[in-house]
Amino acid sequence: MTAGDFEITHVQPARFRWDGGAYFGVVPKTLWGRKVASDDLNRIEVAFNCYVVRTGEHTILIETAAGDKLDARSRERMAMPPKAEDLRDAIAAQGIDPESVDIVVNSHLHFDHCGGNTILTPSGAVPAFPRARYVASRPEWEHAHTRHPRDSVSYNDANYDPLVDSGRMTLVDGDYEIAPGVWMRRAPGHNRDMCIVTAESAGRTFCFWSDLVPTANHIQPTWVLAFDLYPLETIDQKSKWLARAADENWLCGFSHDPEIAFARVERDEKTGFRAVAA
Ligand SMILES: [Zn+2]
Repeated sequence: MTAGDFEITHVQPARFRWDGGAYFGVVPKTLWGRKVASDDLNRIEVAFNCYVVRTGEHTILIETAAGDKLDARSRERMAMPPKAEDLRDAIAAQGIDPESVDIVVNSHLHFDHCGGNTILTPSGAVPAFPRARYVASRPEWEHAHTRHPRDSVSYNDANYDPLVDSGRMTLVDGDYEIAPGVWMRRAPGHNRDMCIVTAESAGRTFCFWSDLVPTANHIQPTWVLAFDLYPLETIDQKSKWLARAADENWLCGFSHDPEIAFARVERDEKTGFRAVAA
């Protein structure tokens, strides 16, 4: 897909399963169950979605999936194969040389968004993209280190601290232009400092929603993940950003939709917005 002069490529290194109730928060299963099937453990199928934005000057990887640091029990619980997905292979399968990635951006530091930043070796975690500069939010990184009981399970320091220590990861505050036209934009709700990523070229915009809108089924502003720390803010941020996406006909990518790689947002009288596969 393209957005102006930018080429946008969807990379899905793996799918997994997660509790449907956790994905739809206070929405009763009688409603979400009409849209998505669940297995006998109440798990729905979701995915790790990453996107590569090629600007002509830079090859920017948005998110790095779960990587190689989940233990066998977690992988089984998530219905994932015992062997970790290889993000570099998944990128190569889309015709992009993983060595060409020169910027990696993490929308936030939950393990399912930055686990592939590094690869474990006997001598410790090393960068999976050796040529790249990594970018993440400083207040999110600080929050990760507070180890709050509510969300500490979402963080694994091996995914980012070796990069921070070696000076490869730039920690930024608030909205930040990663490369000309490509922005991290703070969209709190899922947690305090999560960012969406926008890439704008020649009047066209691609937007990676991250966990603000994890799947197309979360396009209704009130359908919010149970994980979200600040659900009211999620609703407000979704209403604001989705309105802009609809008005400006943005091309959009969801963090965890297993089927829809790209979509556009339209207004809907009943639900506020609807996603239309692009
Ligand atoms: Zn998250």
